[in-house]
Amino acid sequence: AYKHVRLPEDGQKITVENDTMHVPDNPILGFVEGDGIGPDISKACLRIWDAAVEKAYGGKRKIHWAELYMGEKAAGIYNGDYFPDETLEAIKDLWVAIKGPLTTPVGEGFRSLNVALRQSLDLYACVRPVRHYAGVPSPLKDPGKVDVVIFRENTEDVYAGLEWQSGSDDNKKLAKFLREEMGAEFFEDAGLGVKPISEFGSKRLVRKAIQYAIDNGRESVTLVHKGNIMKFTEGAFRAWGYEVAREEFGHCTITEDQLYSEYNGRQPEGKIVIKDRIADIIFQLMLLRPDDFDVLATMNLNGDYLSDAAAAEVGGIGIAPGANMSDNIAVFEATHGTAPKYADKNKVNPGSLLFSGVNMLEYLGWQEAADLISLAYPEVLADGIVTYDFARNMEGATEVGTSQFADALIEQI
Ligand code: NAD
Repeated sequence: AYKHVRLPEDGQKITVENDTMHVPDNPILGFVEGDGIGPDISKACLRIWDAAVEKAYGGKRKIHWAELYMGEKAAGIYNGDYFPDETLEAIKDLWVAIKGPLTTPVGEGFRSLNVALRQSLDLYACVRPVRHYAGVPSPLKDPGKVDVVIFRENTEDVYAGLEWQSGSDDNKKLAKFLREEMGAEFFEDAGLGVKPISEFGSKRLVRKAIQYAIDNGRESVTLVHKGNIMKFTEGAFRAWGYEVAREEFGHCTITEDQLYSEYNGRQPEGKIVIKDRIADIIFQLMLLRPDDFDVLATMNLNGDYLSDAAAAEVGGIGIAPGANMSDNIAVFEATHGTAPKYADKNKVNPGSLLFSGVNMLEYLGWQEAADLISLAYPEVLADGIVTYDFARNMEGATEVGTSQFADALIEQI
């Protein structure tokens, strides 16, 4: 029994059996409104998603939303607790949720609420689709060529928080061990960090990326790494990535080498090409030849940089969607922060949360509803109706508020 969470009575829970998800026509999905601009964008997006589902299925399907609480709203309801246990329980119970941005409480012992959420639910894959919608201002000449989905490992790497501050006792202890026992050399008083990259962590991430490519008819999966320099971490990621492709998906994948040695460079029907690129080169290639890439599998730090850089090619953080996933739990989210100076001003772009919801509809298998939004969106932009951030970069645009943008979009659906 929940204390503050109310599950809508007319809805049914999604079920998962043997890693297969069953979505009823009236699923209960969790939503976390978020802090700062969260309420503005959540209200707008809920209206848009509901309108798209209604239009696509004529009332046969409907999402029953259960509000869950994290961040400042949670603290108000749960006596100062920013991250209530029952929110976690509810996400596990419902399998799929979507969330707005959250303020990180200062001095509460969290690195960030998002990190805490990822760790508690072992959401090991951060999934960021990056594509261009016609009319969105972009710095590229041909942004339509960008259409990739980045799978970023979420739990390991120098990101995992294994760090020892220069001058601390633990740092000295570790430095002594590294110097005396391991023969390592580095400058006196260096801050130290450890970069764990495991076979388990690498393989489950690459496995998920390949499975996505199969399920969505994608042509290639590119392993991104700096294995030429960091051989036993980044290089190992590359090797384990190829291994999981060969051992578990051998029937439907080929390597880029095989593509040329066995298939004359022509991709055979039904085979996904597994390739790899060095992390620095991928930044060039994503600008120069973005259509060479499809699904990208990365470690934590490289993926952090790459997803923001790629998002900037097609409109920036105000519109980039994302999700964090485990094997069976998916939490979709706005990728930007709470932009406190615009809170409750009905001003910001709902695009990031909106398209995270579009990805959520696709994940549920409700492609028709997702498509209605993806098709209506460029129509609204073609009419020049945009929020302030796009208006700045467009000539002759009409700047509207968040809720007016939602109205215009719903009208086009
Ligand atoms: P931010 O993303 O909140 O804002 C930076 C700037 O980006 C804003 O001032 C605004 O100009 C622009 N922006 C952001 N979202 C926009 C939108 N939807 N439409 C138009 N413009 C938009 O980053 P910040 O200022 O560094 O962080 C503010 C707070 O958000 C902090 O408490 C931080 O911890 C938190 N944060 C949360 C998340 C998350 O929950 N996923 C992510 C990043 C930051």
